[in-house]
Amino acid sequence: MNTSDLIVVGGGLVGTALAYGAARNGTRVTVLDEGDDAFRASRGNFGLVWVQGKGFGMTPYARWTMRSAAQWSQLAEALNADTGIDVQLRQPGGFHFCFSDEEMQAREARMRSISDALDGNYSFEMLDHASLKARLPGIGPAVAGASYTRMDGHANPLKLLRALHAACRHHGVRFAQGSRATRITPQAGGFEIEAGTATWHAPRVVLAAGLGNRELAPQIGLHAPVQPNRGQVLVGERVARFLDHPTTYVRQTDEGTIQLGDSLEDVGLDDGTTADVLSTIARRGVRSFPVLESLRLVRAWGALRVMTPDGFPIYQASTQCPGAFVVTCHSGVTLAANHAFSIAPWIAGSAGDGAPAGIESFSGDRFLNGNETFQHAH
Ligand SMILES: Cc1cc2nc3c(=O)[nH]c(=O)nc-3n(C[C@H](O)[C@H](O)[C@H](O)COP(=O)(O)OP(=O)(O)OC[C@H]3O[C@@H](n4cnc5c(N)ncnc54)[C@H](O)[C@@H]3O)c2cc1C
Repeated sequence: MNTSDLIVVGGGLVGTALAYGAARNGTRVTVLDEGDDAFRASRGNFGLVWVQGKGFGMTPYARWTMRSAAQWSQLAEALNADTGIDVQLRQPGGFHFCFSDEEMQAREARMRSISDALDGNYSFEMLDHASLKARLPGIGPAVAGASYTRMDGHANPLKLLRALHAACRHHGVRFAQGSRATRITPQAGGFEIEAGTATWHAPRVVLAAGLGNRELAPQIGLHAPVQPNRGQVLVGERVARFLDHPTTYVRQTDEGTIQLGDSLEDVGLDDGTTADVLSTIARRGVRSFPVLESLRLVRAWGALRVMTPDGFPIYQASTQCPGAFVVTCHSGVTLAANHAFSIAPWIAGSAGDGAPAGIESFSGDRFLNGNETFQHAH
């Protein structure tokens, strides 16, 4: 029988973090995943566990991001214990570079606004060029300065995805690969889900299908108007370690390669690469660290973010179809700890009535007012 306690639709970073969090508490979970034909942000991201600048204009999101970053080491340890995979989490603090005095002023205003909204519980520094150079000697003369917080970090996102899959299996999660859910029907005691020729049953279902959520959500009284947003990334060859800290657009991976990222483009369902955007990314990397001028580039890709109209996540339980949920966000690496430790128990019902505090701020219903316009903040 294709029956379990919880069906997770989508096997990317969001779906597997939820499945893992639920299964480690004893919930019987099945993950339905469309497979290799689908767009998958989880395989094309930049790997930051990033806090600074997040939640500008939405303080609950700033709190939520800080909470996940604070719990991330616990997630990395749990995954290592369950699977032996080290996802290479490092949280030494991160820098966001500014290339002019105007950018510095705008950045400081943004950081100050978030900090004020959090009553100052948000420590950050603004560093001029000289102070930045004292911390990052390789910085180029074109960098006017940077914002810094010690809350930021990075991990190896492909190792994270592999670890989450392995940890799910370790806790008995069943994976149905190549299973694209097309119809979800509420029934007495739960849901029937059609995927290909198979049907699946569970009292609870969570949509974690990335861009696929948009179509599925209305079937179970939910609203997830997500859109693709492309990011292009460049990878340079392995070089001697020169950068211990993640920065917004340049990071040295645990393997020594250099990642240069990433664009923000509203181009629909096109995950290709373009020479003009890649050269802008490369130029910004060299302006940040002139030593990169001679770096040999080995790879480039485009991937589609799962973007809500305002850029903040959607977490919602359906009131029309109790037992159905949607979870979607564009920072699935950063938020993985929250998804595993806070959202999963809520969805699985193992937290009692325990919806995470403040979760109502993230309801997809905020997009139902047709008169309101939104701009996504990254
Ligand atoms: C260029 C780029 C850089 C990024 N950088 C960062 C970063 O530094 N830090 C960070 O935190 N985040 C970053 N992100 C965002 C992060 O990658 C995403 O938030 C995360 O991967 C989203 O995961 P997901 O599981 O929701 O979606 P996806 O990875 O898209 O997975 C969705 C899954 O659902 C499946 N699916 C879809 N429809 C169906 C269906 N009908 N039935 C069954 N299965 C279905 C697909 O097969 C897929 O496996 C970045 C993203 C991009 C594109």
